[in-house]
Amino acid sequence: MTPADKAKAGHVEPDGSFWIWAPQVGGYSSPALVHSFQHGEGCFDVDVYHDGEFPQDDCQASFHCCSAEQFVKFGQAVAEKLRPHLKEPGH
Ligand SMILES: [Zn+2]
Repeated sequence: MTPADKAKAGHVEPDGSFWIWAPQVGGYSSPALVHSFQHGEGCFDVDVYHDGEFPQDDCQASFHCCSAEQFVKFGQAVAEKLRPHLKEPGH
């Protein structure tokens, strides 16, 4: 199974890590593995892949996040800053 197959399937690894879609990277959709989290804690690590034609098993980016809610707020703040610069509002 490729990372994209695992994300499509919502695959869960034996250790509880799970595959999910992250925001696109370089125009490709981005399957991602969320792991190294501890139940009851907000921290998690993310490995981001892509579904392009070049090797799909190469991790494109890895990062640690201390709070999913902070990540959401970050995305909302970036979207707010970018909105005036978009050609199509709401795109
Ligand atoms: Zn942390």
